[in-house]
Amino acid sequence: MTRTETAPAVETPTYGHFIAGEWCESTSGATFESHNPADTRDVVGRFQQGTKADVAMAIKAAETAFPMWHRTPAPKRGEILYAFGALLAQHKERLAEAMTREMGKVIAEARGDVQEGVDIAYLMAGEGRRMAGDTVPSELPDKWAMSIRQPLGVAGIITPWNFPMAIPCWKTMPALVTGNTVVFKPSSDTPHCATLLVELMAEAGFPPGVLNLVTGSGGEVGDAIVDSPDIAVISFTGSSATGKRIAERTGRRLKRVSLELGGKNGVVVLADADLDLATDGILWSAFGTTGQRCTAASRVIVVRPVVEPLLARLETRTRTLRLGSGLDPAVDVGPLINAGAADKVASYVDIGRREGDLVIGGARATGDGLALGHFFEPTIFAGVAPMDRIGQEEIFGPVLSVIPVEDYGSAMLALNQTRYGLSSSVFTRDVNQAFRAMRDFETGIVYVNAGTTGAEVHLPFGGWKETGNGHREAGHVALDTYTEWKSIYVDFSGRLQRAQIDNQPG
Ligand code: NAP
Repeated sequence: MTRTETAPAVETPTYGHFIAGEWCESTSGATFESHNPADTRDVVGRFQQGTKADVAMAIKAAETAFPMWHRTPAPKRGEILYAFGALLAQHKERLAEAMTREMGKVIAEARGDVQEGVDIAYLMAGEGRRMAGDTVPSELPDKWAMSIRQPLGVAGIITPWNFPMAIPCWKTMPALVTGNTVVFKPSSDTPHCATLLVELMAEAGFPPGVLNLVTGSGGEVGDAIVDSPDIAVISFTGSSATGKRIAERTGRRLKRVSLELGGKNGVVVLADADLDLATDGILWSAFGTTGQRCTAASRVIVVRPVVEPLLARLETRTRTLRLGSGLDPAVDVGPLINAGAADKVASYVDIGRREGDLVIGGARATGDGLALGHFFEPTIFAGVAPMDRIGQEEIFGPVLSVIPVEDYGSAMLALNQTRYGLSSSVFTRDVNQAFRAMRDFETGIVYVNAGTTGAEVHLPFGGWKETGNGHREAGHVALDTYTEWKSIYVDFSGRLQRAQIDNQPG
């Protein structure tokens, strides 16, 4: 089957898996629908309900393609990545509109999501010509010592819906440039975004079997990928609950696994901060992507003298935020991803009413046609304590907790008092305080005088503590997830030379 639209144009299109270079149906014969979260009457498409047998076929295709792809010179592999990046750039607007329709983020942010894909494709294309190892002097004469990276085999890539193009690119690009082949399972909330990406990968020239797409549920398709003995490495981004389950299962097989999980990111506002700038940064980080970023700011830790002026600014500006379909360029805040997400946010708002003081928001948004989608008012609570549940647990929605503290020391303690460690920020005009924060904050990313979002692809991305398991995406360190090191010694002395022995006195 090609990328099928099996019915007349007016009807909902049906899309296939992509296995061994062919678009195909699932062995289940079943499909599932993806809906527009801004108007759930709008069905984006029907997608294959994948099975274990489908995954087995995709793994077989990836295994078959591996020797050829591994032996393709890395610069040649990089050229295909570059072609893919160029196609993404060329189709940016179409992809961004499709993304907004399928998962709701406002169109400007959807363009940014595609752009991250372009950026990582170009960065990793360059790695095709770098991929550096070490060449070091040997301790013995007439001996050469060096290390090289080699691919692991088939990479299983499992992604969430909140960056439905950027995250698959963050994972597939380093996996592919290093010579691995891929089985990719996207979130069931964003199979169309994944399909559009894979169409462009095929067009860019990745040979059949190098990149395979299987849609379907986490329990069926995800588990089959995680449990397969023929998958050498799993790269997963998603919730901590799913990540821990994957870690347990892969641990039994000593399989390599890279986990990028939840966050509870804090912004510290000190007394000398530019409060207007802080307000800009906090609102962008808290309510952008409707609070559904792993790097979203959900805790603002503020020293007491500036709590009231900051809250006044936050409330005034939040009141002006416009909710609606992200396809409308005037809209600031789109819908939540699905009904379950809206229920979860509502339940945390109930908790928040008991723990803090509701400043603004606190309800589902239903006016002006919003009841057709999963909209929730941007919500702020004041007077939250650092260990309150709304100050500790990932809500993944537009809910911000303002936590008052006495000074920098108590702000730093409160910031670090979470089980997560992805992103943090500090607003201050004092260079000494800024450097203290850069030293003290226990997160993988720290911003000074900016919100908690805005990572660029050429530095490592990932979190401390329960946000992950020590791996990083992006930057050249992303190659570590997808490669084994091989150290090579070449002795050209023509005689036996014993390291640590023959070069010692006596
Ligand atoms: P999720 O529910 O954990 O799902 C993530 C992916 O895992 C989806 O493709 C899902 O498939 C799949 N999955 C579910 N159960 C599985 C299983 N048993 N085995 C294998 N795969 C399984 O997370 P989400 O709601 O999509 O994403 C939101 C979370 O991602 C938040 O916690 C957020 O903080 C985190 N996130 C972290 C980062 C980071 O870099 N640290 C970046 C973005 C998002 P289905 O969709 O079919 O269930």
